[in-house]
Amino acid sequence: MSPRFMLSGDSLVANWQWLARASGRATCAAAIKANGYGLGARDVLHRLRNAGCRDFYVASWAEAAALADQLDGISVSVLHGVRAADLNLAAMINARPVLCTPGQVALWRDEGAGRPCDVMIDTGINRLGLMPDEVSDGLLDGLVIDTLMSHLASADQDVKQNEVQRVRFREIAGAIKARRYSLANSAGICLGEAFQFDLTRPGLAIYGGIPRAEAASHIRQVVFPQAQVLRVATIAAGQSVGYNATWTTERTARIATIQIGYADGYLRGFSNRGSASWQGRRLAVVGRVSMDLVTLAVPDYCHLSEGDWVDIDYSLPEAATASELSQYELLTGLGQRAARIWR
Ligand SMILES: *Cc1c(COP(=O)(O)O)cnc(C)c1O
Repeated sequence: MSPRFMLSGDSLVANWQWLARASGRATCAAAIKANGYGLGARDVLHRLRNAGCRDFYVASWAEAAALADQLDGISVSVLHGVRAADLNLAAMINARPVLCTPGQVALWRDEGAGRPCDVMIDTGINRLGLMPDEVSDGLLDGLVIDTLMSHLASADQDVKQNEVQRVRFREIAGAIKARRYSLANSAGICLGEAFQFDLTRPGLAIYGGIPRAEAASHIRQVVFPQAQVLRVATIAAGQSVGYNATWTTERTARIATIQIGYADGYLRGFSNRGSASWQGRRLAVVGRVSMDLVTLAVPDYCHLSEGDWVDIDYSLPEAATASELSQYELLTGLGQRAARIWR
């Protein structure tokens, strides 16, 4: 069997509810781009909407189109804005572009038929958004702006850049009229009230990622990968395991081979560093992660056998440290082959 990803709907909702409380007076939205950070955007949208979330962010019009039948009564924004090629979809789908270049502003003014938009200001991430000097000369006059926003570059760290961006955003917000103002992602919410404005936009923490230490005791794991045992074999002392022989038995060892691999998003960074558990016993990943298989050292007196399902340790902060991947990559890389089972 392919692996399966057990997804806790209760924890997803509890995480969003904590983020909403931590957002104080600000409304709490949800970033569901990249297919809901790998979990499945439709299922995430459905659960968060039932919990009271009314504002959602996707990256592209293709992502919005995939949810088009679900968008009545909620607000959806497309973070990459709008290109000429998107105008047909933009006219049909109940979503707004987040305008992020002068070219997009001009296009929406000509073709947007007076419909509302959002606007992204680049206050220092230097990645996407209108530069402050671009909006100072009336570029946005006449647009109906729902949310004016900016994005923090380093909110997960205690660095001066956060305050620099906040002050810059505050200044621009004072000069440009919008229905709402928004700056904070998951980590930004933890920076406190001054960063929260009217609307917060968490993603990572909804899905169990820990953006900053302040959130650690409140955010619960959502994704629990499980894989089935294909073989348990006894391997003699001094034998190597897996591709390129990166692990060698010191004594006779039992090795379980399970059906998960880097094609499922369990990437090679977990080679000799990841772990799993079965009936309360810990099984270390030994040898290299391959495309569809992983090998585990079975401890003494652990009666794991063919067909059993093991739980892969996937607490995001710990798994990120072990694999040297980011918590974001551990979510968005989850493979398509595995079933996603909500419980
Ligand atoms: C992805 C994204 C978010 C969510 O960020 P997290 O770090 O996952 O909480 C918020 N705002 C923008 C503009 C984004 O691109």
